[in-house]
Amino acid sequence: MDSSFDNLPCGIADVVDLLDIQIIRNTGTQLHCRCPFCGDKKAHLNVNIKKNIFRCNRCGKGGGVLHLYADFHDVTLNTAYEELCRIFQSAGSPDAVIRRTAPRKPVVVKPELPLASSEVRHNTYSNLLSLLSLGANHRESLLRRGLSGDEIVRLGYKTTPAVRAPKIVTELLERGCDLRGVPGFYCDKDTGRWKLDIRGSGIMIPDRNCKGEIEAIQVRLDF
Ligand SMILES: [Zn+2]
Repeated sequence: MDSSFDNLPCGIADVVDLLDIQIIRNTGTQLHCRCPFCGDKKAHLNVNIKKNIFRCNRCGKGGGVLHLYADFHDVTLNTAYEELCRIFQSAGSPDAVIRRTAPRKPVVVKPELPLASSEVRHNTYSNLLSLLSLGANHRESLLRRGLSGDEIVRLGYKTTPAVRAPKIVTELLERGCDLRGVPGFYCDKDTGRWKLDIRGSGIMIPDRNCKGEIEAIQVRLDF
């Protein structure tokens, strides 16, 4: 089916994980998941791990590894191939720049929500940063810029999440964090899922007000 795309660095289970598709049952060879394409509330999406194919018994959507990613992000199979190679090949190597998939659709995704209060932003951003770590190369570059190790910890610099971003959003929601009106998060209006809008790899720099609350996070991208 995907004969022109040899050597995919991932299997379909990896893509299910990457896209944070909810697994209801795992038989070891098959995943029964909530279908992300049709508002499925049960487990109509059947994923065959061995054959690397999926099919929804409710809406009929199906295909291979690339189709799952391509349909989910509304991109071509070519783009899906390139992005999966980039995500999964670079994931293992610490020096690689891992790029998150930039949303294909114009950035009008959000029905504008009013900016969350500084209390809400501080709580959500603090929880977000607590789930992240600082990569060794980013730490070194901060030290080279003259920051001390203590300052780096106190100020809360972290490395942008790469493939774990969907899991982090799930964890934040489970912790009861409010993502509404918090810049950097948006709700995909097609799927109703909250997402973290980070387009590259870099250092996350918390912006604090005079009370020490995190009002915003800036990302200094790697180049
Ligand atoms: Zn479906």
